[in-house]
Amino acid sequence: MAEPGALLADGYDVALFDLDGVIYLGPDAVPGVVRATDELLRLGKKLMYVTNNAARSAEVVVQHLRSLGYTAELDMVLSSAQVASAYLGEKLAKGTKVLVAGTENLRELIAAAGLTPVASADDGPEAVILGYDPEMSWPLLDEACLAIGRGAVWYACNDDSSRPTQRGVVMGVGGMIASIRAALGGDPFTFGKPFRPMMDEAVRRTKAKCPIFVGDRIDTDIIGANQAQMDSLMVFTGVHGKHELVAAGPGERPTAIGKDVSALLLPPRRLSLASLGCRNLSERAEFFEPRGPRKVSQQALRAENFVGQLDGGADCDGQRAVLRAGEIVLLTDPSDLESQLSALWAVANLAWANPGIECAAALRSLDLVG
Ligand SMILES: [Mg+2]
Repeated sequence: MAEPGALLADGYDVALFDLDGVIYLGPDAVPGVVRATDELLRLGKKLMYVTNNAARSAEVVVQHLRSLGYTAELDMVLSSAQVASAYLGEKLAKGTKVLVAGTENLRELIAAAGLTPVASADDGPEAVILGYDPEMSWPLLDEACLAIGRGAVWYACNDDSSRPTQRGVVMGVGGMIASIRAALGGDPFTFGKPFRPMMDEAVRRTKAKCPIFVGDRIDTDIIGANQAQMDSLMVFTGVHGKHELVAAGPGERPTAIGKDVSALLLPPRRLSLASLGCRNLSERAEFFEPRGPRKVSQQALRAENFVGQLDGGADCDGQRAVLRAGEIVLLTDPSDLESQLSALWAVANLAWANPGIECAAALRSLDLVG
């Protein structure tokens, strides 16, 4: 447990970051995050940028991050293409032919790993590796299909089903995987988040003893961290928000939430869950007694009239949520973003402890959280 006054980052030696929705949004840095990452470096934390995008080289990612104002070196970037090529280089004999369905970056990494990239099933590849390529051609997917059909082992750098762009959502490399699966059945061995190889390689390269993963997506970042038994911080600057958080099942829940990366430089949220069925009345009164003057909403007033019927509650830094008549109700009326995130953490934890419970009204009232 962190000491009072300690920062969330104090519990970790390495922070691993997803890029899109965490570090940048489209062409721009997420506001305040350049300063936060510089402060983390000043505090002696190791940082690594962990991206599923296999199309871009680490050098290109470093240049992009620097152009946005971030401190970035080559050893601070890890892509799914790097993880895949390192793995295949170790697993396969030198010179083994690998059919590469991906960008020049992936081909170069496969060659640098001592393997022989090929583009035709007739070359007799022992493996096929798929990576995101915005100019992927149908004939090359045919070659991948033919090679897999002839017995080559099927690998994929990552399997993201979609890719957010400034014009909307388009298919990710998962679309290519789905098209091959439609023809042949089966699934590739996959390296990127949420799968272990990516997370394990990030830990290996940073020599992390106690890392935290910072991400905006539950399906890749948070599940990936959990599968690697790593703590995670879910930030609200990207794809997923309060509804996805509350709906997250076991194994899909972050260890912390925050507005953005700068939450690492704030004290961790303090949560207490009460199962009031096991407590006496005086403990109930103490738990729910208001701490000093506060603004109380009509919804909260209505909820407090039902104190006698409460059968469970959560308190996060003074923001309280209770169970009442099959619904989660907020007893407080937070008006700033940080207080609303604390209230959300109370609501989410109470919802996770009571699967299927209604909490739409409580979430609606947290209007500053996406
Ligand atoms: Mg993201």
